[in-house]
Amino acid sequence: MTPKRILRGQLVDFPMEGQIRHEEKGALALGKDGRILWRGAFAKMKREWRELPTDDYGDHLIIPGFIDAHIHFPQYRLLAAPGKDLLDWLNRFTFPEEGRYASKAHAVKAADIFLDTLIAHGTTSALAFSSVHEGAADALFAAAHARGMALITGKTMMDRNAPEPVRDEAEAGGIASERLIKKWHGLGRLQYAITPRFAITSTPEQLAVSGALVKAHPDCFMQTHLSESHPEIETVKRLFPKAKDYTDVYDKFGLLGPKSFFAHGIHLSPRELARLAEAKSKVVHCPTSNTFLGSGLFHLTRTREAGVGAGLATDVGGGTSYSMLATMGEAYKVAMLNGIKLTAAHEFHMSTQGNAELLGLKDVGTLDAGKCADITVLDPEATPVLARRQALSTTLEDVLFSLMILGDDRAIRATYVHGKRLHHRKSK
Ligand SMILES: [Zn+2]
Repeated sequence: MTPKRILRGQLVDFPMEGQIRHEEKGALALGKDGRILWRGAFAKMKREWRELPTDDYGDHLIIPGFIDAHIHFPQYRLLAAPGKDLLDWLNRFTFPEEGRYASKAHAVKAADIFLDTLIAHGTTSALAFSSVHEGAADALFAAAHARGMALITGKTMMDRNAPEPVRDEAEAGGIASERLIKKWHGLGRLQYAITPRFAITSTPEQLAVSGALVKAHPDCFMQTHLSESHPEIETVKRLFPKAKDYTDVYDKFGLLGPKSFFAHGIHLSPRELARLAEAKSKVVHCPTSNTFLGSGLFHLTRTREAGVGAGLATDVGGGTSYSMLATMGEAYKVAMLNGIKLTAAHEFHMSTQGNAELLGLKDVGTLDAGKCADITVLDPEATPVLARRQALSTTLEDVLFSLMILGDDRAIRATYVHGKRLHHRKSK
């Protein structure tokens, strides 16, 4: 098979935790099917392929596209809203903004901006919340499909403790979710996530409907929030006095399983961690959101040692950056405050192959032949500060480390989704 396009640059990927695979003068051959056809040293590439259309990135780093394991579409412009804490932030800023997605026209426009912003930040896949409105989820699926993106999302369900424009009703919310599953789940690279927002905004009836959806559609994802802040945990206790703890609330309604993703999970007890591990459920670390809202310091080692898989995510708009580079930088600082020292190799793995494995996305995460060509190109000297820092870098770990501490969307030279270049920044 003849490739459609050749990419040249330093190939860098992270197939195993803590491991960097590196081909300094590398080449990737992208097939007509949007997949990686071949990878290796440029010198070893077939001679006849040298005449093919080529994007030559010199000594820039060609890495697998970032995967964001938790983000909110209807908060795409709601970054940096100064809430006192999570619940205050939701009530004062978030719910009014999400209410605007009742308008399909608003959602259609927003979906394009949201996805193009992800791509401009080097993110090629995400597990995303939509708003409560069926039309908004529909618009987001359509926009992702048009871009060939592997997006997992779903209509949020919330039927209490929120203003009317962002509330649904238990049964109607379930029926709307069913319609969206039928229409979008498994179409192209799209998958559906059953999405009760969290225990505070869903009645027991709605959580039961969510559990029934999970049972009826075991191949769909389930996403919600868990154990993010202390006032939230106290409120859940008041609303569900019979539950053993917060995790038990979801457990009782059948929401724990291997495709269940719980954002945050900061303050979990040993019992909760053990139960999540037993159910093979995952938690998602959202460091910029946790520090911004003062929610707490997620403990990566404690979570992993309990046997619970942990993903990494921006949680925009509670999170303060779309950039997975900035997110890794913040995760590094949170870990340091817990006495844990993470390497760039660890964190780049989390943002690529690690999140891919947790989400079961088998055709992304590395630059192996056969994978979908979801690719990000990083410029290690994108800014004057980065450029000066690289003068001191002696290893690839150094270069990657400085990118995750100092980098953002300016370091994204190009992004490919399913073999197509959807973002490109001219070289300096
Ligand atoms: Zn969230």
